[in-house]
Amino acid sequence: MEIVAANRDFVRAAIEPWQVELKQAIRDPFALCRRLELPEELAQQARAAQGEFEIFCPQAFVERMTVGDANDPLLLQVLPREQESHSFSDQSGDPLDEAEFEISPGLLKKYDGRALLITTGACAIHCRYCFRRFYPYSDAPKSIGQWQSAINMIERDRQLDEIILSGGDPLMLVDRVLAELILRLNQMDHIRRIRIHTRLPIMIPSRVNGALVGLFSGLTAKTICVIHCNHGNEIDDDVAAAVKRLRDAGVQLLNQTVLLQGINDNVDALIQLSQRLVDIGVLPYYLHELDPVLGTRHFKVPREKAVELIDAMRSRVSGYLVPRLVVETPGAASKQILA
Ligand SMILES: *Cc1c(COP(=O)(O)O)cnc(C)c1O
Ligand code: SF4
Repeated sequence: MEIVAANRDFVRAAIEPWQVELKQAIRDPFALCRRLELPEELAQQARAAQGEFEIFCPQAFVERMTVGDANDPLLLQVLPREQESHSFSDQSGDPLDEAEFEISPGLLKKYDGRALLITTGACAIHCRYCFRRFYPYSDAPKSIGQWQSAINMIERDRQLDEIILSGGDPLMLVDRVLAELILRLNQMDHIRRIRIHTRLPIMIPSRVNGALVGLFSGLTAKTICVIHCNHGNEIDDDVAAAVKRLRDAGVQLLNQTVLLQGINDNVDALIQLSQRLVDIGVLPYYLHELDPVLGTRHFKVPREKAVELIDAMRSRVSGYLVPRLVVETPGAASKQILA
């Protein structure tokens, strides 16, 4: 009997397949370039440019890149380039003034009715354009105990009806911690929607495991997952299957994209992305203008061009395939819709 019990404990503590994939993620620019048969100079540049925000990319994402293509739209999102070390005076480490809207450790409230909880600083990928790369995540709460003051504040504020879990990536939390947090929010009767901003269904589709599906299926609050996909090539059969598991659990799926020069700044790429999303049951929500973060100028698409892209999309496809072009302006009552 004792042996059986010991085995059970072992199974419970066993590392999940998605965590194995995380451990196996590529962190070395030379390994990435070798794998894609790209010149070593690119890796050298990447190592010099990456700074403290080191390269991090799961194998499943690399598999969707084209071997030998230095301009692959997925590769450009993860491989540091020389331009990252350039800075401009209109860029900053906290372009959205997030520190000003923190009403409790890890809880940001900028807009009426909803608040955003930073659940972790970890992500399953390091996106080179990320606006959170300078966020002081090490100060953010990491366990239910540390979320207590944010939870108390949410509980008291009956004007809130939606909580957005963000980060980093909330699905980086292990099942037990995530469930504890979500079930706690689900108990509050004024919280009608729990929204999760995550890139994990794209980066590591096996993260959508039985525990997650079971958790979402059992909630009374409506669950919304906003995935983050920038290019149609990011969607393969495993991603489609992960999204289907979420939909079968009653989760509403939306997508947000960042408009990025050289990656998705053309109408064909944006239309193909929207079509693939809708094929798998995800509606395009936002197309974000890049925030002015240090070291990301090479990804910036001029605003006039962004508006033209949306107009061109609108003239070619159904309205629900066209995301809203938005930008965040510190202090505004909502994100600004540009087109
Ligand atoms: C973007 C954001 C939201 C959500 O805005 P929606 O327009 O509802 O998607 C909420 N809170 C914060 C702090 C945000 O940055
Ligand atoms: S997944 Fe999101 S938060 Fe994480 S690095 Fe990419 S853009 Fe930034």
